[in-house]
Amino acid sequence: MEHSRGRCFCGDVEYELTAEPIALLCCHCTECQTASGSSFILSLKVPYGAVKVTKGEAKPYLRPEADGQQRCPRCLAALWSERLDSKEMVTVSAGTLDNSSKLEPVAHIWTSDKQPWIALPKGAIQFPNNPPSMEPIVKAWRFRNERNA
Ligand SMILES: [Zn+2]
Ligand SMILES: [Zn+2]
Repeated sequence: MEHSRGRCFCGDVEYELTAEPIALLCCHCTECQTASGSSFILSLKVPYGAVKVTKGEAKPYLRPEADGQQRCPRCLAALWSERLDSKEMVTVSAGTLDNSSKLEPVAHIWTSDKQPWIALPKGAIQFPNNPPSMEPIVKAWRFRNERNA
């Protein structure tokens, strides 16, 4: 599988994905902007349990109950989030993957907070806030991957 390994900024923590991703989206909310210090977070949704740590140990920081955000204890790079209230999927910070160059999101959420200079691609699925359901995003991701296969 392509795009299947990742690591933190300092290299203490490495992981691999043991299942195909479910969806890829950009979150433009102000929390993601603040947490990343950037314009958005690229979120790769994978099945629960599909993140396997291959080196070191990630630890929950920052509101572990709400986000379950797992970070490297040394460089504090945000690697993935496992919400305690939903064991359906894990959200991987796609920028930590070794090869993220071919990853193009199918959807953009919280576009009401989006920085105005960012032009979204034509046809991209957009939600002004949280999507009411992940279904259209998951479908679009599956459709694109089937078409490209
Ligand atoms: Zn690190
Ligand atoms: Zn967000």
